[in-house]
Amino acid sequence: QELDKYTGVVEDCCCDYETVNSLNREVLHPLLQELVRTPFFRYFKVKLWCDCPFWPDDGMCRLRDCSVCECPENEFPEPFRNSLKHNLPSDNLQCQEGKPQAIVDRTLDSITFRGWIEADNPWTSDDETDNSEMTYVNLLLNPERYTGYTGPSARRIWDAIYSENCPKYASGEACQEKKVLYKLISGLHSSISIHIAADYLVDEAANMWGENLEVMYDRVVHYPDRVGNLYFTFLFVLRAVTKAANYLEVAEYDTGNHAEDASTLLLMKRLLYNPKLQTACPLPFDEAKLWKGKSGPQLKQTLQRQFKNISALMDCVGCEKCRLWGKLQVLGLGTALKILFSVDSQNQPETSVQLQRNEVIALVNLLNRLSESVHFVHERGLLSEKLGNVQ
Ligand code: FAD
Repeated sequence: QELDKYTGVVEDCCCDYETVNSLNREVLHPLLQELVRTPFFRYFKVKLWCDCPFWPDDGMCRLRDCSVCECPENEFPEPFRNSLKHNLPSDNLQCQEGKPQAIVDRTLDSITFRGWIEADNPWTSDDETDNSEMTYVNLLLNPERYTGYTGPSARRIWDAIYSENCPKYASGEACQEKKVLYKLISGLHSSISIHIAADYLVDEAANMWGENLEVMYDRVVHYPDRVGNLYFTFLFVLRAVTKAANYLEVAEYDTGNHAEDASTLLLMKRLLYNPKLQTACPLPFDEAKLWKGKSGPQLKQTLQRQFKNISALMDCVGCEKCRLWGKLQVLGLGTALKILFSVDSQNQPETSVQLQRNEVIALVNLLNRLSESVHFVHERGLLSEKLGNVQ
């Protein structure tokens, strides 16, 4: 009977589950998989040093002194070298919670990370201009997967996110805007859990990796609202990407490799103006319905403050690779929020959205993560169950 919940329109969105699944399988998933492998989208600029503003006593924050296995300085492109102040011992890996899979591989090739404009994002806390603390990570070398990060430290983050910054709404909650924030975070949480399940250390002694469907069922599939929130988040971010089409189709995808950069732009356009998407699900989420009430501006400020707190909480995530993906995905969500909620499309043309390079990278990588999760949950979870392939 559980499966009946995954038919019909995704709650608070404009497309149904079946359409999302087929669009994702046929169009979005393959396209996004290609896009995130391009030189432009595979490097992310990030401040990984733990600088947790909430629990200075957190044992995890001692990682600041030992969390990085630095590449030798000569491996870094020239522009970054001067800004790297942290010369940390490279052999001190036991500080990474003793879990090698949690370590971020910072190997870089010589592609320079060229800057875009620097514009503030009212939804996030990271200061992108703080170059002395930033480093560049090749995302392809650091897949989001099981890392062994669990227990009170991880629990404390999720608890703080949900209890203080986006409480679960009571059924019948009329305030759509508050629901959106909760659903976005819950959808992201589902997606993280699904990536853990999809790439799990199934046999630690043999260092064998594989799927762990039990984890996926126990944490996500058995909870229809968590699956629904995953689909909601996917559609919300998809809407943000397509709404910013005018901006994204003329953005600079320049990494110095003309052939590859041209193909990045081509892939981007295929995503932005996909005929199947435009026919089957032209408006994945309708943001025009929101912020209509009198208290709109005040409510927006409250939600912005809450989301900024969530963004700052990412500095307290005590496992490097989780922090990397946590920061990227929260920045991606913040970028989607900025596109959909900060630009008043009634008074300004949609082209007026200004994005930073890193925001675009986070947005597209987040969309890909969500697309992978929808794909996995559908193919390995819901569909398998329907076909009787699972317990
Ligand atoms: P948790 O996932 O910790 O969930 C805590 C509680 O939240 C649950 O008991 C439930 O009440 C509620 N909950 C769970 N899912 C949802 C949902 N979708 N919607 C609403 N409520 C929900 N671990 C890794 O191995 N790899 C990673 O890359 C990784 N990245 C992380 C990134 C961040 C930002 C954080 C905070 C943690 C990350 N973790 C990662 C840890 C991981 O998310 C879990 O916390 C950990 O695996 C322990 O899981 P758990 O079963 O105790 O429940």
